[in-house]
Amino acid sequence: MLDAHCCVPDCLEKPYAPAGTRSICKSHFLTFLTWRRRRGTQMFHAYAGMTMEERDSVATEWVKTIRTDDVPTTSPKL
Ligand SMILES: [Zn+2]
Repeated sequence: MLDAHCCVPDCLEKPYAPAGTRSICKSHFLTFLTWRRRRGTQMFHAYAGMTMEERDSVATEWVKTIRTDDVPTTSPKL
């Protein structure tokens, strides 16, 4: 719970909010919020009722999407 920095790989920002059992920085927290909203209101509200373990798996899934989310996908997928 006492992470030295954000749990996102290569991010050295100070922890701001929890994401499951880990901590993420403010900017990544906002990215996580946006991602959850984009998944739909059901997902957004379901997260509130999840256990730490369930939140961990959601956070892990989200971390995997960060790289692709940050880069605008202008080129078609092959
Ligand atoms: Zn971060």
